[in-house]
Amino acid sequence: MDHNKLKQYLEYLELSGIQDIFVDRTSKEKSPEPEIDAKKLISLLNQKYANCDKCPLAETRNKFCYGNGDPQADLMLIGEGPGADEDRTGKVFVGRAGQLLTRMLKAINLSREEVYISNIVKCRPPQNRNPKKEEIEACLPYLNEQIDIIQPKLLLLLGRVAAVTLLNIDTTLKSFRQQTHRYRDIKTYVTYHPSALLRNPNWKKFAWVDLKKLRDDYFALK
Ligand code: SF4
Repeated sequence: MDHNKLKQYLEYLELSGIQDIFVDRTSKEKSPEPEIDAKKLISLLNQKYANCDKCPLAETRNKFCYGNGDPQADLMLIGEGPGADEDRTGKVFVGRAGQLLTRMLKAINLSREEVYISNIVKCRPPQNRNPKKEEIEACLPYLNEQIDIIQPKLLLLLGRVAAVTLLNIDTTLKSFRQQTHRYRDIKTYVTYHPSALLRNPNWKKFAWVDLKKLRDDYFALK
């Protein structure tokens, strides 16, 4: 078992309340890889991190927003950070932008229950400002851990903040959208954040072009 998987498995056991592990050193046979229940692990980690105070956003948030959807999804969507509705409910993408995202997914025959949705930072930046570098650095390990557990086959980054953070390229959204990328060896698309589409409805036609490409890739996996 590789190091990451072993770490995840031990964390899973600890969070599940299992204190002792007995290893049979007399057996020469290689034991099968243990199954990690992604749904349970994601739920346990959500509870574990709910009171995180690793960055100043902890002081102003109401609710920590870890992520929602299917922890075994092939497609994971990553936005920027929670807004006011998310901060109030503890759920990601539930406000107007979230409703638009639901409609965007529906347009490519997907429901929110079939994908997993999260953000770069898990607590709301005041007045919806962009998250600061130190806040992103503090929070990013949570997102990377989610990706390790969920193991999506495709990523869709919503907006420039998510794209600049994960792809480590400082360019325009238009330029990000012109090609697919790889984040941690996962094929990655970039499109507009639904909040930007609410402010600029003219951009919806460009988002539709991105979504159609993503749809073709997604359904080719099936
Ligand atoms: S934004 Fe992330 S690192 Fe900062 S307090 Fe919230 S969960 Fe912790």
